Amino acid sequence: MGLEQIYSEILSEHNNSKRNKHHIDNPTTVLKGVNPSCGDEIELELRERDGVIEDAAFTGIGCAISQASTSIMIDLIKGKTKEEAIELSKLFFGMIKNEITDEDQLEPLDEAIALKDISHMPARVKCAVLAWHTLENAVEGEHAANHEH
Ligand code: ZN
Repeated sequence: MGLEQIYSEILSEHNNSKRNKHHIDNPTTVLKGVNPSCGDEIELELRERDGVIEDAAFTGIGCAISQASTSIMIDLIKGKTKEEAIELSKLFFGMIKNEITDEDQLEPLDEAIALKDISHMPARVKCAVLAWHTLENAVEGEHAANHEH
């Protein structure tokens, strides 16, 4: 399968739009994610209040898939609780590993479903999951950071 086939409108729209690609005010978590196999680098910024991801954005460089996947993820997690965000990430990993294929089950992933066919392209999987791994680390690593204060 060629890359062209997965370049849906959704992916190119997210690549062209900069609405999620910027810095946010007063982030509570900033975490970098790197995918050396492709050269993708993102820095995820989150602002949490009372367990809810109030705002999120990212900066970074990398291939179209990594950047679009991060932008799509940010649309999905804004306004969600940390637990809901982790649930979405589990669902996304399930889709990318081709373990969850049921469309009703995948529905909460919304635009991220555009990345479903990446599961057939092992070399690109790391690009697609970079944002979600970074999110998990950001949310779960928070406890440790708070103890230091
Ligand atoms: Zn990549």
